[in-house]
Amino acid sequence: MSTRCGIGYDLHRLSEGRKLIVGGIELPFDKGPVGHSDGDVLAHALCDALLGAAGLGDIGIHFPDTDAKWKGANSLIFLEHAKRLLDEKHFAIEHVDAVVITEKPKLGPHFPKMREALAKALSVGAEKIHLKAKTNEGVDAIGRGEAIAAHVIATLTSR
Ligand code: MG
Repeated sequence: MSTRCGIGYDLHRLSEGRKLIVGGIELPFDKGPVGHSDGDVLAHALCDALLGAAGLGDIGIHFPDTDAKWKGANSLIFLEHAKRLLDEKHFAIEHVDAVVITEKPKLGPHFPKMREALAKALSVGAEKIHLKAKTNEGVDAIGRGEAIAAHVIATLTSR
């Protein structure tokens, strides 16, 4: 059995009049991510971490933002697709650890629902998904509330 890790990062600008979707959950807030799909930074960074660990490229290769098919797409679809690719290559998801960085709103209270949604999309137990929240201490675009970002590390095993 071998173990492999992958890293994923994503950032989206926040704009008024967009729904804020993080980890597959819609949060009550007056701004949301600008993006071709639903702009779910956590799902996108997680997708890249999984694809990276499996040596399968990145989200842009599998779901190009030039493809009208993905306009407004629920990003959990990307995770379901990544999971199918992992299954084909006999990779199992051991653990996912993530940091989501945004000045507002508070994410922690929504983590149980996000973990459930992400775990369901990946067909794993929610205990395999670990989420952490940070602010950017008022610094830079994220600190000014102009953007939201996520970093994710995924650990896979293969038989
Ligand atoms: Mg993205």
